[in-house]
Amino acid sequence: MTDRYAVIGNPVAHSRSPEIHAAFARECGADIEYGRLLAPVARFAETAEAFRAGGAAGANVTLPFKLEAFAFAHARTARAERGRSVNTLHFETNHVVGDNTDGVGLCRDIEQNIGQPLLGTRILLIGAGGAARAVVGALMDCQPELLAITNRTPAKAQAIVDEINVKNMLRAVGLTELPKLRFDVLINATSASLSASLPLVPLSSFDNNALAYDMMYGKGLTPFLALAAGTGARTADGIGMLVEQAAEAFYVWRGVRPSTGPVLDLLKQAAR
Ligand code: NDP
Repeated sequence: MTDRYAVIGNPVAHSRSPEIHAAFARECGADIEYGRLLAPVARFAETAEAFRAGGAAGANVTLPFKLEAFAFAHARTARAERGRSVNTLHFETNHVVGDNTDGVGLCRDIEQNIGQPLLGTRILLIGAGGAARAVVGALMDCQPELLAITNRTPAKAQAIVDEINVKNMLRAVGLTELPKLRFDVLINATSASLSASLPLVPLSSFDNNALAYDMMYGKGLTPFLALAAGTGARTADGIGMLVEQAAEAFYVWRGVRPSTGPVLDLLKQAAR
């Protein structure tokens, strides 16, 4: 019997997840159907519950519903609890498990696809919204020397640190301290690129041969990546994170890990 999945969001028409999961299914010989489900903004739970009650096996969740999905799940994995955000729902009999694969997806893309180790590095995470919150735990698991968080609204960065802090490794950094620090990896987890704007990051923050990573993806360089390229930094957008988080969700649902390289190559070609 065909197992049914979907990505639930608003808007959702732009989502690349159906083509990514179709490619994984072809490779793994899995009999699945994966669609897009537009949920009205105030009706995530009803939409997800109707999908589940109709016999679906699971769902991915995208903007703006990751917090609603967290509340909707009956049980949550440790990594979902850490970021208080869910992007993957697994529908078991009478039971919904919420997981979050964004952090693992980001770290695999940086370490395995791009080849930038995170162990012992100095990382700057820019932004303190849902995406930043979701990846902090996984970044700490990679054992950087320092994981600094900076945000336009500093109190939100401090709130994440206060909530998640387990070691000296993690700290919030304000705009006055930032110019004094240099980083090996700088990750733009703000939505500034969506409006073609730039988060405030001094050029002096980019160490020699730094990696600048923008979670947003699309054609060409975002303003953040263009700024970084001007300092000589290497650049990467978030398309690899998207593919890697999808592969982890596929594994959560089906116990099989698809290879991500071929799909990533196709998506990168299409973006050129
Ligand atoms: P949220 O709305 O939860 O958070 C937005 C963040 O961006 C806040 O920290 C906000 O700061 C900051 N921000 C917004 N505009 C500006 C600006 N002009 N200058 C500086 N900071 C700004 O969004 P998410 O965290 O959910 O998403 C962030 C980005 O990550 C999006 O572009 C999304 O597409 C991307 N993403 C990519 C994924 C992937 O797989 N590649 C997965 C998940 C997300 P403040 O607190 O001050 O308002």
